[in-house]
Amino acid sequence: MANNIQAIRGMHDVLPDQTPLWQATEQTLREVLGSYGYSEIRLPIVEKTELFKRSIGEVTDIVEKEMYTFEDRNGDSLTLRPEGTAGCLRACLEHGLLHNQTHRLWYYGPMYRHERPQKGRYRQFIQLGVEAYGMAGPDIDAELILIMDRLWKRLGIRNKVSLQLNSLGTIDERLVYRSRLVEYFEQHLEQLDEDSLRRLKTNPLRILDTKNPAMRDVVVNAPELMAYLGTESLEHFKAITTVLDNLGIDYTINTRLVRGLDYYSKTVFEWVTTELGSQGTVCAGGRYDTLIEQLGGKVGHGIGFAMGMERLLALLETVTDSVTVSSVDAYMVRTGQIAEQESLRFAETLRNEIPALKLQVNCGGGSFKSQFKKADKSGATYAIILGDDEVSRGEVGIKFLRDEQAQLNLSQQAAIEFLQEKLS
Ligand code: ATP
Ligand code: MG
Repeated sequence: MANNIQAIRGMHDVLPDQTPLWQATEQTLREVLGSYGYSEIRLPIVEKTELFKRSIGEVTDIVEKEMYTFEDRNGDSLTLRPEGTAGCLRACLEHGLLHNQTHRLWYYGPMYRHERPQKGRYRQFIQLGVEAYGMAGPDIDAELILIMDRLWKRLGIRNKVSLQLNSLGTIDERLVYRSRLVEYFEQHLEQLDEDSLRRLKTNPLRILDTKNPAMRDVVVNAPELMAYLGTESLEHFKAITTVLDNLGIDYTINTRLVRGLDYYSKTVFEWVTTELGSQGTVCAGGRYDTLIEQLGGKVGHGIGFAMGMERLLALLETVTDSVTVSSVDAYMVRTGQIAEQESLRFAETLRNEIPALKLQVNCGGGSFKSQFKKADKSGATYAIILGDDEVSRGEVGIKFLRDEQAQLNLSQQAAIEFLQEKLS
């Protein structure tokens, strides 16, 4: 016998008992973003490989070893998007949305990275991305942080996450710092691991982002980028922390926060939790003004963040026992030839009259007993009973599946009114 075909490693299914939490969370995200005037943009999952090489940077983990790249039938090199910022910017440039305009956008959907699958790290994962264009900041930088802060509060996990903040300065400031940093690491070569020795040549700032505990000391004692920032970068950063101080939003300045992608400048931030083991970054982002030119646009401004939905959901599961959103309110039990026809008609009437009612009609026949079993399993609160007897009396039985109340026998109209009242 042939083996069952299984899902691809690192790509997982969200089963029906998990979708209520996803849907409730997605609803909250939409509401919070809407309350700040952000609009949704929907983007392709596949883009030209060149887009990611040019934007994310050739010597990043993503481009070096994580992309799902393949050749299209006509020979073009295409890539499943590993992140959303590049595609979003590509779309806005392509449609002329960045000419002297500001935009506040969000997108939601799967991203693909060929990483080693583990808890909180997958090969297909969902991100909520938020991007703001055309604003030099620092007010918009602060706005993004306020959005995230509100989101955590709405989701009831504000005390589970903390904000880390840094400034990467301008390209010129970073260049000076970079050569200082290289000098420093060259004096401590024996403490660097293989990855870091390689990065020393290609992207030394990324060494600061190492997850190797053995390198903690050498990284902690490295020179700090903040000391190399000019007045403008420092003032920009100060303006953000002033807003956060005034509004009572806690943060930690982490001068070693550099982020894994090349395109950031000035503000960078991460929201981290200690509840999820080593995959503790739930949300991360920063300013990427130069990326716009890099992708062929005029001098511009962009800032954004991306939130890993699987990590967010895992965090939510630590505070929510189970989401008691039942997918069914009522289950219709029906037997007898006449009742089978009449019950379908009545079910449609119920759906006309009570659009919010989630009604499942028994299909495939079965005795009353087996139908009640299915009704119970459906999670419904009520069983709506139509047998030939009920139909001949013009009545409907309503049985309470979750408490001891006696069954009601009502006219069809009274049953509609009863359910209307219960669901309002
Ligand atoms: P990490 O340091 O954990 O690898 P990253 O810096 O690569 O994260 P970003 O590219 O900034 O992550 O993506 C933003 C968010 O998307 C992360 O903070 C995380 O929540 C989520 N994310 C990134 N990669 C994965 C993955 N492979 N599986 C699940 N979630 C992910
Ligand atoms: Mg990563």
